[in-house]
Amino acid sequence: MARRKIIAGNWKMNMTPSQAVALCAELKDLVKSDSVDVVYCVPAIDIVPVAQAVKGTNVQVGAENLYIEDKGAYTGEISAPMLVDAGVKFVIIGHSERREYFKEDDAFLNKKVKKAFEAGLTPILCCGETLEQREMGVTMDWIRLQIKSDLVGITADQVKSMVIAYEPIWAIGTGKTATTEQAEEVCKGIRECIAEIYDQATADAVRIQYGGSVNAGNAAELFAQPDIDGGLVGGASLKADFGKIVNY
Ligand code: PEP
Repeated sequence: MARRKIIAGNWKMNMTPSQAVALCAELKDLVKSDSVDVVYCVPAIDIVPVAQAVKGTNVQVGAENLYIEDKGAYTGEISAPMLVDAGVKFVIIGHSERREYFKEDDAFLNKKVKKAFEAGLTPILCCGETLEQREMGVTMDWIRLQIKSDLVGITADQVKSMVIAYEPIWAIGTGKTATTEQAEEVCKGIRECIAEIYDQATADAVRIQYGGSVNAGNAAELFAQPDIDGGLVGGASLKADFGKIVNY
């Protein structure tokens, strides 16, 4: 069965609520598509206005983070039930910026993946190597370790429904895209890793995105690869170009 492509924007810490609503209006006609899933992963404060702004369109709303508890004394955090109640369907987990700046490790990320599933959210689980790791030739070892650790206790059916984003850290926000061959090689390797941990049916079902300086010029070639099921898009998701990426 063919996997449906999924193109998700990661707005990061950009767009005030009023700017977010204006961007949704600007992109509304440009991101229309019957053939791919379109998701805007937005800052927590933008979730409610964006959910309102995309109501009745093909765009689904994602969060950029969640906490591992449902409620309580965790000042500044946002819980899975809060996200669900606000209309969120997807949540990015393990983005390299959270791993690096907020010291989120794989054991913690595994709890986040579990919490997302428990609440009915679809995780977009990110993994990726540094330039140093790539140059040392340990890219796939590193990514396999991330995937295996982040998915401890996650069932095959859950994996079938989730999204994994391969994002080489050296390609994020740098303008340096991985070559199509590099991106496909790792996405294929992730699928093989899923087949080893689970089974071939699970590997065939899970959607694997590439992320890292995707733009209107390189999206078509990347998304044409057999193991790349769409993209996680940072910078280019904040402008009209995102429409061209969706309709690659
Ligand atoms: C990202 O933030 O996930 C990302 C891939 O960013 P960019 O497209 O700007 O490289």
